[in-house]
Formats: sequence, structure tokens, C-alpha cells
Amino acid sequence: MEFSQFNVNTLMDITSRPDLVFVSGKGSWLEDHAGKRYLDFVQGWAVNTLGHSAPEMQRALIEQSQKLMNPSPAFYNIPSIELAQRLTGASCFDRVFFANSGGEANEGAIKLARKWGQVKKNGAYKIITMNHGFHGRTLATMSASGKPGWDKMFAPQVEGFPKAELNDLESVKKLIDDKTVAIMLEPVQGEGGVIPATREFMQGLRKLADENQLLLIVDEVQTGMGRTGKMFAYQHSDVTPDIMTLAKGIGGGVPLAALLARQDACVFSHGDQGGTYNGNPLTTAVGVAVFDALAAPGFMDAVNARAKQLSEGLLALSAKYGMKGERGQGLLRALIMDRDDGPAIVEAARNQNPQGLLLNAPRPNLLRFMPALNVTAEEIDLMLTQLDALIAQVRKA
Ligand SMILES: *Cc1c(COP(=O)(O)O)cnc(C)c1O
Repeated sequence: MEFSQFNVNTLMDITSRPDLVFVSGKGSWLEDHAGKRYLDFVQGWAVNTLGHSAPEMQRALIEQSQKLMNPSPAFYNIPSIELAQRLTGASCFDRVFFANSGGEANEGAIKLARKWGQVKKNGAYKIITMNHGFHGRTLATMSASGKPGWDKMFAPQVEGFPKAELNDLESVKKLIDDKTVAIMLEPVQGEGGVIPATREFMQGLRKLADENQLLLIVDEVQTGMGRTGKMFAYQHSDVTPDIMTLAKGIGGGVPLAALLARQDACVFSHGDQGGTYNGNPLTTAVGVAVFDALAAPGFMDAVNARAKQLSEGLLALSAKYGMKGERGQGLLRALIMDRDDGPAIVEAARNQNPQGLLLNAPRPNLLRFMPALNVTAEEIDLMLTQLDALIAQVRKA
């Protein structure tokens, strides 16, 4: 089939997309309308934990769809109870509220913190967030994000999100006043360029929060569910946050998100929070299947082995081309280049034949890698070999 046969003009034009329509996927591979295959190191934006159309997820979808898809959020259902038990069992949190997207889960976290401020801290409502942070595309989460230019885009912003600098404790301390209720950050800034918060910073934030009666909120929408080599990224720094949000990887590709909190922070009254699709058995059943795959013996060891292989391979490429190294945690990594040819490499990778390669450049001098967590050693080697050739090709042109 030709691309021109698709009428894409009935879709709202919200981003520039290549002339490709994807029709199927399996594991680390995608196939387009013309039958061309692509090795996928983007995976739906770090969403497809187990790769495309994972058999575990298919099974969960088929079985659950034959039983029950949506009894309404006003009633309990089995998969949501099972998934909440697994998530609280694997973390420091006591209770879960399920949502459908990262933005929605973060809205919930913001509401929960503001409610906590009303109930426990004299109406405090300000949440300190980080410059270059990313928390979603709703009005409040755009205001919480620290993306340059976003403060003016849909003005006026939702107020109450003063910005500090990641890994600069003093910059956080300076912003605290009696109206401050929480500190919110990504343990690894994803869209901001794969920048990990240091262990010292995370521990310093916990201490600041304790000293000033603040909640510590971790946005693990991108870093949660094994992406960084532990089930949750906060576990790398031995801190105990009060609130955490999950999305992306938790559904393995279906829309599922979660807001988790420790008991002391569970202050919603009836009617404060809800949503028609929230906690539906169809997507939470998939969440259970994804969780069980991640928790299986040896799975996380394999993630860490692949992460080491990817990290070493990227370092070698960096050395070969005089770049500035690599960084990241687990299978969320970035190659830091010495010039702004990220977009050119991404395009050349997609266009190469006979098989394309899907990469992402969140910044012009940065390539980001977020493969499926069950990516094979051979697939990582193949990607590294192809990337080597692509860098050489783009720099020769
Ligand atoms: C992707 C992302 C979000 C937004 O999630 P959506 O599901 O797109 O709403 C929020 N926070 C972080 C850290 C993310 O990476």
C-alpha cells in the first residue's frame, strides 16, 4: 500500500510525522504500511516494557475481555485489587489510585498534595518542581513542568509551582516558605535529556522535606516499572518518598497509570478524586501481567546486563567519534554528542534500508535509548553496529 492512499488529513495536525503508517509489531520490531521493518529503540516512548504485542499482554487482554471490561469505578473489580497489592508490596507505598495517563496521575498527585496542605498544613499549596522537568500536558502538569517556553504557551499558568535546579539542594531550600507543601521531581529527567538526580540530592530532598513538613513526590512515569534496573528508580537512592506516580511502562502499551501514596498522605475525601475509566479491569489485568513478567526471577538481572552492554557500547562510540560520553540509568540512556546532529541521525536511521532503526533525539545533541526491557543482546549489538555506520554516514555528508 502507498502512503498517499491514507487520508491523514482527518487527524488533527499536532506534530510533524514521517510518511509512515505502522501496522504491526512484535518484540523489538515494527512493520510499516509498505512491509519495511524497523528495530525499535523508542518503544512507544518507553511504554512497551515487554516489546510490541507481548504474548503475556495478549493473553491478559483476551482472558479479561471475555470476563469483564468495565463494571464502573463505583464498584470493586479483581484485577485492580490484585495490581494494587503487587504495587504496594513492591514499594514503600500503602495505597493506589489508578488513572489512564501520566499527566492524569500527576494531576492526582498535585491535588493530593494540595489537599494534604489544606488538612495538615494550614492551606499550604506550593509545590517546588525542577527546571527542565516534565510532568505532562494538562494545564497543571504543564505548569509543574520546567520546559522552556511552556510558561507562556497557554497563559495564564496554574500558579504555585516555583522552579528549582535539579541536583542543586540550595536552589530548593531557597524556595521553601510557609506556603510550600511538597517537592516534586523525576528521579531521572527523561524529556529533559536523561539526567539522573544524584543520590545525595534525593537524600537531601528527603531531609529538607522532613525538616519543613513537606511531601516528597517522585514522578516515575518514565523511570518506574524496571526501566532503570530496579522496579522503581527511587530505590537506587534509598529514600522513602511520600507519593509516586507511574504510567508508561506500567501498562506495557495500554493506557494505564497509577498514583501511589503512603498512608499519612492518603487524605482524599469521597468525591475529591475519580474518573470513568480509572482502575478498569481490562487495563489493570494487563498491568498485572506486565508486573508479573518484571517480577519473574532473573528478569531484572537481564535488564541490568543489557543496560551494561548498551552503556559500554555507547561509551565506545563516544570515544570513537570524540563525543561527550553517555549517561542514564538501566535501559533509559543517552549518548551525549559533540554537535547537534541528533535529528539528522534519527532521520537517517529511520530511512535506512532494507531495515530501519527508530531512535529519539530529545535535544539536538542527544540521542535517547529506551528499548523494550526484554530487548536481546543481539538486538543491542545490531543497534550499536547500525548507529556506528549512521554516525559515520551523517558526518561524512
Ligand atoms: C511521559 C511523561 C509524563 C506524561 O505522561 P502521559 O501519559 O503522556 O500523560 C509525565 N511525566 C513524565 C516523567 C513522563 O515521562
